[in-house]
Amino acid sequence: MEHRACHCCGLIHRLPSLMPGQQAVCTRCGTGISVPGCRRVSASRTAAAAFAALVLFWPAILCPILQIEKLGHQQQSSILSGTVELLCHGNWLVGGIVLLFSVVLPLTKIMLLLELSLLEVLHRRHKALTLRIMEHVGKWSMMDVMLLAFLVMLVKLGNLVEFHLGPAVVAFIACVAMSMIASLTFDPHAIFEDS
Ligand SMILES: [Zn+2]
Repeated sequence: MEHRACHCCGLIHRLPSLMPGQQAVCTRCGTGISVPGCRRVSASRTAAAAFAALVLFWPAILCPILQIEKLGHQQQSSILSGTVELLCHGNWLVGGIVLLFSVVLPLTKIMLLLELSLLEVLHRRHKALTLRIMEHVGKWSMMDVMLLAFLVMLVKLGNLVEFHLGPAVVAFIACVAMSMIASLTFDPHAIFEDS
């Protein structure tokens, strides 16, 4: 017998030792209660998705995302070069917001998820602190919102100039999807698991 809390509603259950493949379900809310074995699996899923997001992040911000043709001139820009251009032209507020919310915070979140899901690396106290930081950062990491804003901008731009989408769009969408999967599969209880 061991005691386990439902991670959804917090109800404590006394669990008999489960056979592999068996699943315990909360009697109050019906959420599956994770046992040590499946936590290990969920942690490696999170690690894999976070790693994929980290790899995809670089082409997403460095490759050209947009190619604009205006009066015979072609101009390519990536998220990073576009942001740097904004800052150089003195648009500190807009440039700073884009840099912080679509580059710095998402990258921090991915790195922290990766660090937390690689269970053996960190000491418990350090993990708890990292988890708290990640929860705050996660609220403000808004790549998906930026993606939406970008699409709205494209629809408006469509009437004015001719444009082509760059390869960064694919990387960006895949990166957003991967970091979402990493967040969804992440089980905070798993980081304090002993076995
Ligand atoms: Zn429950």
